[in-house]
Amino acid sequence: MRISNFVKQDRLWGRLTDLAKIGATAKGGVNRQALTAEDGAARRLLADWALSRGFSIFQDDIGNLFVRRNGSEDSLPPVTTGSHLDTQPTGGRFDGAYGVMAGLEALEALEDSGIRTRHPVEVVAWTNEEGARFPPSCMGSGVYTGRYTLDWALSVQDPAGTSVGEALTAVMEQTKDAAPRGFGAPMAAYIEAHIEQGPILVSAGETIGVVTSVQSQNLFEVEVFGEEAHAGTTPRANRSDAVLAAVEIVAELERAAQDEADAMRFTVGRFIAKPGAPNTVPSHVVFTIDLRHPENSEIERMSNLIECLPGEVSARRRCRAKVTRLSDSPVTPFSDDIVGLIDSKRRDLELPGRRMPSGAGHDAMYIPPLAPTGMIFVPCVDGISHNEAEDALPHDLADGTRVLVDCLAELAGREG
Ligand SMILES: [Zn+2]
Repeated sequence: MRISNFVKQDRLWGRLTDLAKIGATAKGGVNRQALTAEDGAARRLLADWALSRGFSIFQDDIGNLFVRRNGSEDSLPPVTTGSHLDTQPTGGRFDGAYGVMAGLEALEALEDSGIRTRHPVEVVAWTNEEGARFPPSCMGSGVYTGRYTLDWALSVQDPAGTSVGEALTAVMEQTKDAAPRGFGAPMAAYIEAHIEQGPILVSAGETIGVVTSVQSQNLFEVEVFGEEAHAGTTPRANRSDAVLAAVEIVAELERAAQDEADAMRFTVGRFIAKPGAPNTVPSHVVFTIDLRHPENSEIERMSNLIECLPGEVSARRRCRAKVTRLSDSPVTPFSDDIVGLIDSKRRDLELPGRRMPSGAGHDAMYIPPLAPTGMIFVPCVDGISHNEAEDALPHDLADGTRVLVDCLAELAGREG
C-alpha cells in the first residue's frame, strides 16, 4: 500500500487557501513578513491544525516551529520536512507555505493510513526564510544549524529599528503551548518541498523536479568614485563621471556573463548615483551584483572578472573603483541517496520530472551538515514567484506531496 494514496488534494488546497487569507493583498498575493502579527497568526493556525490531529508541537529559541508525529521507536532522530510561512512584502500564496502544508498533509496521510513508522516524522516552519524584513534570509535554519549565533540573530533590526528579539517575543507568545526545543538536534533526513519559482518544469510539462543541489551565489558591491562638476560648463576631457563608468562596467560584465547554456545569472538589483542632482556630473555610484551558477568553477571565473574589470574601466574614465565581495556561497550538493529516493518514488508514481539544480536559496541548503538532505520542486504557473501573481495548480501540489510522503514513510521505517 502506498501512503501517497491517502494524500487528499482538496484538504491540501483548502489549507493553502485558508493560510493565504492571513496577510492577503488586494492583488491576490500575500504580505506576511517574518515576525509580524500575520506571521504569528499563521503559526497559530498551523499549531491548531496539528493539535487537532493529535500531533505535538515544539519551538526553539529563534521560533522555528516543529510538528511531530511520534515514531514507534520515538527516541530515534526524526525524519523532517518543512519550509517557511513568512513571505516577501509582495509575495505569493505558495512560496514556503506549500512546503509546510505539504508536510502537514504528509503527516495526515500517514495518520489516515494507520501505518506507524519507527522514526518520528516532523514538519518544521523555519523562522524568517525570506529575510525581507530582517536580513539575512534563512535566519531560522541558519541559527538552528549553527551558521549564525542566536544572540547575533536576535540583535538584527528591521528598518523601523525593531529587533528580531523584540518581534520574536510577541510572535512566540502565539504558540506558547509548544514545548521547548534545542538547536541542532540531529535529523535522520530532511526533504523540503517547494514551488520551483522558475519556468523549467512548467515549460517542459513536467510535474516533479528532483533537486540535486543549490547553485552557488556570490554577492558583490561595486563603488565608483568620480568628481562632481557643473553639467553645463565641464567639457568631456575634464569629467570624472561615475555613472558613465558604472554603466560601462555593468554593460561589459553583462556581456561576459552571457553563456551558451544560459546558466549564469547576473543581476544588478541596486544602482544608486550621487549626488543625484540633474545638473551635476555624478561623483559616486554604488551598485550590487548578484551572481549565481550551478558550477563553482564558472562562478569563480566570473567573480574574478568582477573583481578586476571595474578598476580598469574606471581608470579609463578618470574614476576609481572599489569592489567588495559581500558574500560567497559555493554550490550545496544534496545527498545522492535522497536524490535517488525522490527520483525512484517519482517514477513509481509515473510522474514526469527531471533532476535539476535549484536557482534560489532555501532553508534546505543549511541542513546537509546535519542530515542527508534533498528537495522536491513542483511547477508554478508561468514560473512566476516573489510576485503577488504567483500561482500553482492543485494537482501539481498534490503530486509533489505524494512523492514527499512516500519518501518520508520509507526513510522513517514504515511498519506495514
Ligand atoms: Zn521559499
